[in-house]
Amino acid sequence: MQAFRFDPVALPESARQLRREVRDFLAEQISKGGITPHRNSWGSYDADFSALCGERGYIGMRWPKRYGGHEKSALERYVVTEEMLAAGAPVGAHWVADRQSGANILAHGSEQAKQEILPEIAAGQCFFAIGMSEPNSGSDLAAATTRAEPTEGGWLINGTKIWTSSAHRAHYLIALARTAAKTEDRHAGLTQFIVKLGGDDVKVRPIYNLYGGHDFNEVVFDNTFVPAHRVIGKEGDGWRMVTGELAFERSGPDRFLSTFQLLRQLIDALGEQPDRRDRAALGRLVAHLATLRTMSTSVAGMLERGESPNLEAALVKDIGTTFEQEIPEIARLLVEARPGLERGDPFNEALARAVLTSPSFTIRGGTREILRGIIAKGLGLR
Ligand SMILES: Cc1cc2nc3c(=O)[nH]c(=O)nc-3n(C[C@H](O)[C@H](O)[C@H](O)COP(=O)(O)OP(=O)(O)OC[C@H]3O[C@@H](n4cnc5c(N)ncnc54)[C@H](O)[C@@H]3O)c2cc1C
Repeated sequence: MQAFRFDPVALPESARQLRREVRDFLAEQISKGGITPHRNSWGSYDADFSALCGERGYIGMRWPKRYGGHEKSALERYVVTEEMLAAGAPVGAHWVADRQSGANILAHGSEQAKQEILPEIAAGQCFFAIGMSEPNSGSDLAAATTRAEPTEGGWLINGTKIWTSSAHRAHYLIALARTAAKTEDRHAGLTQFIVKLGGDDVKVRPIYNLYGGHDFNEVVFDNTFVPAHRVIGKEGDGWRMVTGELAFERSGPDRFLSTFQLLRQLIDALGEQPDRRDRAALGRLVAHLATLRTMSTSVAGMLERGESPNLEAALVKDIGTTFEQEIPEIARLLVEARPGLERGDPFNEALARAVLTSPSFTIRGGTREILRGIIAKGLGLR
């Protein structure tokens, strides 16, 4: 049986100093109107702000300098991420590339791919989408039927991906495709490819979400050519990489801060003298938030040491997304409100957005049931 481990991590002085710098930078940006705090920070797309983050060294922070990175620690990266989300900064454009695609290319990509793509990502000028889910393969990714076949100088991809966030504005997508027929080992024969978006051979069609926004898409590959140097890792090794990526995708503060702006608004709405019931409810939320931060920084510490905390990441996402969903439920009980998306009353707007987006928190990045399956397996229960 594998036990959970959440060793406490003390932030080094360099991370505390960086936190102050980022906080000052964001306060200045907000006060001079450079950015408006967003309710949906990592879903908000602002290419200019991403370029500014690139200039300041806030993207690709852990990567080697020769690829445009800054050779910082996972904990330094953690505090930048946390400050951005807490301020509601519009980090959505570079989010996926910085969080997981770049790290994946750095670990397993070809030298040519690293040289041509990583510096652009670190500069905040190259954005990625995730091409894992398919119409009949979401939780069960190994059922992917998108095919890649070898051709002169590379591969031809055919198939359909779905729920592909930001594919309409990203420069590349990492696609999981089948390069060999299924065998008894369902996880064998899958490979990851870096696919250039924007050409005629990849069709990107919008799917509108619950609040009418266009965040995700259907993506159809039609004999899409991918040069050989844009295969990630060894042919057939895609499953290992996808599961490695998920530790980055599931453990960060983005998995418990999605409705943080509403928590702030709730504190303001309850005023200087909240009654006993309100104080108890707020205290409970803040205590949960503090615990999640401790767990999430602990995972950052494990990633720093080169470990693969997949189990701990699954726990952070499961508990974190439950917390994010609880905030609007509790806010609704504590404050009489008329939620509405139009900008005006900040509490009503934050509540409306949280109510409409929160059902997706326990689906995106792996559903609650799948995470609990991973946790149960880790405990030796199945
Ligand atoms: C906002 C949002 C953004 C997204 N962005 C992306 C993206 O950028 N790229 C991408 O590739 N995907 C993306 N997704 C897709 C997401 O990863 C999938 O929706 C998710 O993995 C579930 O897959 P599915 O929708 O096919 O549901 P299914 O896998 O069909 O699941 C349906 C239900 O059955 C349950 N279930 C399935 N298998 C099991 C099992 N073995 N045991 C118990 N219960 C089970 C699930 O928990 C779920 O409740 C996004 C989704 C959302 C909501």
